[in-house]
Amino acid sequence: MTTSAIGYPRIGKLRELKFAIESYFKGDKSQAELITIAKGLRKAHWQQQATSQIEHISSNDFSFYDAVLDTACLLNVIPNRYQKLALPELDQYFAMARGYQGDKGDVHALAMKKWFNTNYHYLVPEIESNTDIKLVGTKPFDEYQEAKQLGIETKPVIIGPLTFLKLAKITAGQNYQHYLDATIKAYSDIIAKFAALGVTWLQIDEPILVTDLNQHDIANFEKIYQTLLSQKGSVKILLQTYFGDIRDCYSQVIALPFDGIGIDFVEGKESLALLQKYGFPADKQLFAGVVNGKNIWRNNYAKTLSLLTQIKQKTANIVINTSCSLLHVPYTLQSETKLTIAQKAYLTFAQEKLQELAELGQLFKEHDPKQHAAYKSNQTLFTREREGTNQAIRQKVSALTEQDFVRLPEFSHREVIQRQTLNLPPLPTTTIGSFPQTSDVRVNRAQFKKGEITLEQYTAFNKQKISDCIELQEVIGLDVLVHGEFERNDMVEYFGESLNGFIFTEKAWVQSYGTRCVKPPVVWGDISRSKPITVEYSEYAQSLTDKPVKGMLTGPVTILNWSFPREDISYKDSVFQIALAIADEVLDLEAAGIGIIQIDEAALKEKLPLRKADWHSEYLDWAIPAFRLVHSKVKPQTQIHTHMCYSEFTDIIKEIDQMDADVISFEASRSNLEIIDVLKQNNFKTEVGPGVYDIHSPRVPSTHEIRQTIEKLLTKIDKQKLWINPDCGLKTRGEQEVVASLIHLVKATQDVRLEL
Ligand code: GLN
Ligand code: ZN
Repeated sequence: MTTSAIGYPRIGKLRELKFAIESYFKGDKSQAELITIAKGLRKAHWQQQATSQIEHISSNDFSFYDAVLDTACLLNVIPNRYQKLALPELDQYFAMARGYQGDKGDVHALAMKKWFNTNYHYLVPEIESNTDIKLVGTKPFDEYQEAKQLGIETKPVIIGPLTFLKLAKITAGQNYQHYLDATIKAYSDIIAKFAALGVTWLQIDEPILVTDLNQHDIANFEKIYQTLLSQKGSVKILLQTYFGDIRDCYSQVIALPFDGIGIDFVEGKESLALLQKYGFPADKQLFAGVVNGKNIWRNNYAKTLSLLTQIKQKTANIVINTSCSLLHVPYTLQSETKLTIAQKAYLTFAQEKLQELAELGQLFKEHDPKQHAAYKSNQTLFTREREGTNQAIRQKVSALTEQDFVRLPEFSHREVIQRQTLNLPPLPTTTIGSFPQTSDVRVNRAQFKKGEITLEQYTAFNKQKISDCIELQEVIGLDVLVHGEFERNDMVEYFGESLNGFIFTEKAWVQSYGTRCVKPPVVWGDISRSKPITVEYSEYAQSLTDKPVKGMLTGPVTILNWSFPREDISYKDSVFQIALAIADEVLDLEAAGIGIIQIDEAALKEKLPLRKADWHSEYLDWAIPAFRLVHSKVKPQTQIHTHMCYSEFTDIIKEIDQMDADVISFEASRSNLEIIDVLKQNNFKTEVGPGVYDIHSPRVPSTHEIRQTIEKLLTKIDKQKLWINPDCGLKTRGEQEVVASLIHLVKATQDVRLEL
């Protein structure tokens, strides 16, 4: 039984890649030094997999920023604005990723979007009218050879043509069909080049196949692969899918002459049924995704072996595979020193998943796997109940009634009441919550965690920061202030740490975008709140100013989506437990005199199923109520804000309105304000702050630019409902750029107000 991994985390065991790239950005490392570090990481990651007896090890799963961006560069999909900068190749690449502002010019970054249903973000390629799609890069070939020189035969991984074209933004107005032939040609050149290098297996990732496809897409898919497969020569082609099942095209996929097909049996609800219904051709290998590449719980060998047995009834050519790239889980459990042995027993990260693959491969070969030590020790975890049950919370959740989800009076009444109570100027200005987490902030937190300073010293420092932040916002002239979130390492971890039921890791970082990583907490048991979490700092911040200061909370859906969720109870039960805890915090803030409370649902869209048919039944039917539960008991005067990252909610606009917040801010700037038409068409009732500039890039927007954006917003949004704010929190940005940008934001707003 052979084993395979779709991809491996590239950021490094201790985020070495992140730090190397960031110091390159700062000018502290040369390009040569950066390249050497990258090479070292690739070597370590390949060797790790080789040592773990993985037969199909990926190459080209490395990236300096993002694999879709790598593919765009490979295929010459480089918009004119970056070419004009005439930067060296690597710097042009980073300009596409992050924007560029310097002596060569001033350009925006490519748009960034969530990668399917994960918290990873890819850069959206832009195909312009004069884009000439062709093979120009060498990265996949170089990395294959690099591994080969180390004595490791890898399967290079590339993002497939259909996925690439469907994710790209075609600015010239055509649809992707127009670029099909050129793209097919580029990919056949790629395959030819791999053939010349002696590659055995090539993995082509087509995750787009697990989304809803129409007949055109399927026809294009067939056309692409009929051509490519007729030219594959000696290279074996593995078509790899993940994040779901391929129910729209299973029969077409198996009819094509692929050598291997990768199917996800973890998230693919219908994968097994499809296999049973349509079978699997004997001349192909089935790369069966049975080890979860997204979650961190130990695989239940009894279940997986029984699944594999069912699969085997249809084909014996099985390769045991991860369900998706291990990019989405942390590197290794070995770096964790604080988790108990009992807790660690339940967990597996990337490195440990390699061992699971190998063990499953072994066990599946055995006549009676149940007799083996690996099997027996695995099963001890699943035959007893895990600690962490809280009966009181479970009862509270089951006692919820419809009323608990309804806030009264209805929105239109509250809007009038709040306008009177808050008395804000038109187009109120605000920020999303966090201010730059400068090194002094991180040092203070680290010292406290290590016990080097007392709680009093720690708190005093944060209060000083809050007071400076309030003063800064008053000087800048913002209308609704924030305390700055200096006490928070991360918007989810911070709440997790204050709630019962979570456990935390020290080094379990997962890449979110570029060099940004997150360290999700683990939902371990039932969730409850034993004391107020944010009230002290919020009250303090409000005491310093006459302007309203927003209380700042993370919403239940985001807490769940940005944690590693439990698999032993339903998402719905988990999220309602969290919602009840946050609801108590909302009421405590209100009682402490906080008049505006923002409950961030940054990650609301993250777990939206990829297929429309599942949206309500599997997600929205509990996610939207969870948010309503959090604020249903507040007074009409209390203004509830929410914030969502990205504006990709066109299709669920009604549901977003039904969250029944009073104000919602979201990202629109980096996706060209496309959402505002949709708001208008849908008579969106909630007041909105569609983010007037992009904080994911270090560039400072000019007053003029922001003013134009506001004017554009005003053509579609009622001036009574529009808020002016950056598109996300400012914590990752430098102080100088933040101050300059906010001054421009306030000035632009003031200018526009004069004309209202
Ligand atoms: N309030 C959070 C902040 O400002 C929101 C972050 C987010 O949307 N990701 O950092
Ligand atoms: Zn955000």
